Amino acid sequence: MQLLVASNNPKKLAELERILAAAGVQGVELVSLREVEAYEEPVEYGRTFADNALIKARAGAQATGLATVADDSGLAVEELGGMPGVLSARWSGTHGDDQANNDLLLAQMADVPDERRAVAFVSVCALVTPDGTERVSEGRWEGRLLREEVGENGFGYDPLFVPAEEDAPGGAGRSSAQLSLADKDALSHRGKALGGLVAAIAELASA
Ligand code: IMP
Repeated sequence: MQLLVASNNPKKLAELERILAAAGVQGVELVSLREVEAYEEPVEYGRTFADNALIKARAGAQATGLATVADDSGLAVEELGGMPGVLSARWSGTHGDDQANNDLLLAQMADVPDERRAVAFVSVCALVTPDGTERVSEGRWEGRLLREEVGENGFGYDPLFVPAEEDAPGGAGRSSAQLSLADKDALSHRGKALGGLVAAIAELASA
């Protein structure tokens, strides 16, 4: 079975590939947006991660006739009422400018004390099949916002995020930009959200 991953980020396709392999799911060929006939990608105007994931997955399934997975994710800062949230990628006003987004968030949170710096990465993954069946799975990764960037791996807000698992007594206190790919996969919001769709994908593949 071919499964479209409606994302322009090759890392997301690779991550789903690793998760399906680890779960022993066979018979799924992941297809990227580059491998299908180009279609107009929808504007992500949703108010929630689920809205946006569904907007992207529905568009993919409709345009290609393939079962389609899409995700939407971001950082929810408790002190900011859950923002940047769905605006995470464009918090500073320019879509995808990670440095400007991080700088702005750090400035906004500069006077907020340590005990009020709880944050979570959130990912919602949607699976839509051409017959219109829709499934949604959410994953959360709790942590704390640092006061400066630490670490070189990852992307986006990773250098500002210390996972709760690392913050626990005995934890090394590393930011998610200091974790290996495998360590991040095992803990991350996206790993959890994609994991929640594995059974449905396996069922489609065996149908
Ligand atoms: P999108 O879901 O690809 O649109 O990503 C939304 C934005 O959320 C990204 O541009 C990042 O700023 C942030 N984000 C989502 N997941 C992560 C992550 O695992 N690490 C760091 N930033 C993330």
